[in-house]
Amino acid sequence: MALRVHDDIAGLRASVAARRPRGPIGFVPTMGALHAGHASLIARARRECETVVVSIFVNPLQFDRAEDLARYPRPLDDDVALCEGFGVDFVFAPAPDVMYPSQPQCTVSVGQMADHLCGAFRPGHFAGVATVVVKLLNIVQPDVAYFGEKDAQQLAIVRRAVADLNVPVTIASVETVREPDGLAISSRNRHLGSDERRLAPLLYQAVRAVQRQVAEGTTDAALALARAAATIPEDSRLRLEYLELVDPASFQPIGLITAPVIAAGALWVGSTRLIDNLLCKPDHFSHQR
Ligand code: AMP
Repeated sequence: MALRVHDDIAGLRASVAARRPRGPIGFVPTMGALHAGHASLIARARRECETVVVSIFVNPLQFDRAEDLARYPRPLDDDVALCEGFGVDFVFAPAPDVMYPSQPQCTVSVGQMADHLCGAFRPGHFAGVATVVVKLLNIVQPDVAYFGEKDAQQLAIVRRAVADLNVPVTIASVETVREPDGLAISSRNRHLGSDERRLAPLLYQAVRAVQRQVAEGTTDAALALARAAATIPEDSRLRLEYLELVDPASFQPIGLITAPVIAAGALWVGSTRLIDNLLCKPDHFSHQR
């Protein structure tokens, strides 16, 4: 079946409803500017579900900086072509006033899980994410929704939101897709100049340095983080916003590492903010799942 693009909620709902009797509906929410990371989520949905829906919506509610929203890339034709190539059935690409016909009075608030990492530096970001994800899940009503581990705090908050709000959907997570030098693929990487692009893998190297120390038996989080942060050179183009170790479910900072933890960081490279994270397992956990 040829891909159909919907920009209205009723049309998308009718298309999905017609396909529901055939089997599971898979859903991949995105902000567009699709790349190999998104493609990995879409390919997994295609393998696992009868019908695949991709949403493309740059959600104003989750942007804490107006200039970031303004310069976010929106190559819709290329995105639709990529979706077509991956056998997507429906693209949902609403305009902002379709999703927010008026300033919403009822939104999803997020508790302590949004207090650290990106949540500490991007006020309101995760409330905006949780609100749009719940709205999209109510619009599409998928059986499975796919999210990337690249945005680990987002993934954990989405899992918690659907549990707390009883949204009937399975959340599936997909491993981070990286460039050969380790840089996590992101729509924001296209803003990097060539010198900045050379510096960008430093963030991955720093979270890898934390992961390696945890695997080798370091239990003092502050020590592991300080050593890893020291791998980022003094350079006027670089600013490490945070590098932290948190519990994978609660996203609260960890002092003593006795169980698997997430190392997460945000690095400004010029005017581009990059994030990355890795699950870190102490040696005695590495043989377990
Ligand atoms: P975004 O368009 O940035 O909102 O991302 C849409 C989805 O794709 C989110 O679930 C992201 O976590 C996921 N994603 C983005 N980049 C990657 C990547 N490099 N590898 C895996 N998933 C990713």
